[in-house]
Amino acid sequence: MTRDGEGKTFHVVSLGCPKNLVDSEVMAGLLMRRGYRPTADPRDARTIIVNTCAFILPAKEEAIEAILAAATYKKTASCRCLIVAGCLPQRHSIELARAIPEVDLFLGVAEVPHIAERVAAMDAPQYDGPRVRVGPPDFLMDAAHPRRLMTPPHTAYLKIAEGCGNRCSYCIIPSLRGPARSRAPEDIVAEARKLARRGVRELILIAQDTTAYGRDLPGRPSLAQLLRELAGLEELAWIRLLYSHPAKITPELIRTLSGDAKICPYLDMPIQHIDDEILAAMNRKGDGQRIRALLETLRGEAPDIALRTSLIVGFPGETKKKFEMLLDFVQTARFDHLGVFPFHREEGTAAAALPARIPAAEKERRRELIMAAQAEISAELLSRRRHAVEATLIEGKSGRTDYPFVGRTRRQAPEIDGVTFVRGKGLRPGRIVSVRITAAAVYDLFGEVVDNPS
Ligand code: SF4
Repeated sequence: MTRDGEGKTFHVVSLGCPKNLVDSEVMAGLLMRRGYRPTADPRDARTIIVNTCAFILPAKEEAIEAILAAATYKKTASCRCLIVAGCLPQRHSIELARAIPEVDLFLGVAEVPHIAERVAAMDAPQYDGPRVRVGPPDFLMDAAHPRRLMTPPHTAYLKIAEGCGNRCSYCIIPSLRGPARSRAPEDIVAEARKLARRGVRELILIAQDTTAYGRDLPGRPSLAQLLRELAGLEELAWIRLLYSHPAKITPELIRTLSGDAKICPYLDMPIQHIDDEILAAMNRKGDGQRIRALLETLRGEAPDIALRTSLIVGFPGETKKKFEMLLDFVQTARFDHLGVFPFHREEGTAAAALPARIPAAEKERRRELIMAAQAEISAELLSRRRHAVEATLIEGKSGRTDYPFVGRTRRQAPEIDGVTFVRGKGLRPGRIVSVRITAAAVYDLFGEVVDNPS
């Protein structure tokens, strides 16, 4: 393939979860180190990389749309090289290569560290290499990999492990991302220090299952130990934990989550369901009784902790009675934040073969009932925050006149939870201020600055 024209510009479209976002950031970092220049406008890019997700059908559809949109720039703008990376080619590279001739290169998830060579090879007047490069998903980043952050500069995700060994029956991720493999604690701390020195105030720990951290390493360092080590980093203000597995939450972790001002009293803990038979069919470790006992322990030992969970409705075999039990559980467990997703039958998963299907309309009805119940709970729980003073990380302008700034408290994660609208003097992104909560809506809070401790 020949290439003419000026400059080594690239644009990355990052889809899916924060773990995929970190891969996009590493690819951008490696390209910049090789002299390529990022552009926010895909029309100016000679190379466009679409880093895809393939977790469930809607994610695959979104990826195809993004790929076809990027392909138009090969006709209408500067794009000369279109690369599709991530979970979609890892799962469907052959079909994709046949179906979308506009794409020059399909790269699997293990190709992240090689992105600069791959793009440079496409620069050659005549590229005669393979169009598909998908191998075993064995890549694990480390602190030496440069990252061009795609989050606001004061917040960054910290990927502490890759892959997953849990084999939940509805989930394709283990076959896309490989077995669970943890980074060494000293390597993670080294990267955290680098990020903190670049101005990151909030670090968000991610993996497919953060609570599996260290179990594959010599000496089995624990997630709690890692959190405490990270809390020792001067420059960092907040450390947040996402993607924990309820069956792996230890008393040590609970103590750590409520034992340090830097560690946000926040726990994201997808439980997926509460019925024992459904949990067993999902191949989820732990039963309903254990989940209820864990919630009691968490609320007892960390009363101020904000709990987020995710649920699946319409899993094969979810009778009306089992759904009612889940709805009742949501109304009694009273999570601070909750996401609910209709079951998707994903080929290649154990659950794909299960009988007793629930019609799509009924799945949607169940999803709406859970979200309606959660909206009431969220409004009630947030109204109790009124008059409280919350440390709030300012993210930027809100576009509102009454509360011109928007931020998040230690109980609000980015992208997935509500926000806090703020009014007050001397506010700027990245600043952590004390905010007195004056009002609450269904998912958001409102408040005014009481002083600027930072
Ligand atoms: S914990 Fe279960 S749902 Fe999550 S990535 Fe692993 S297999 Fe998938």
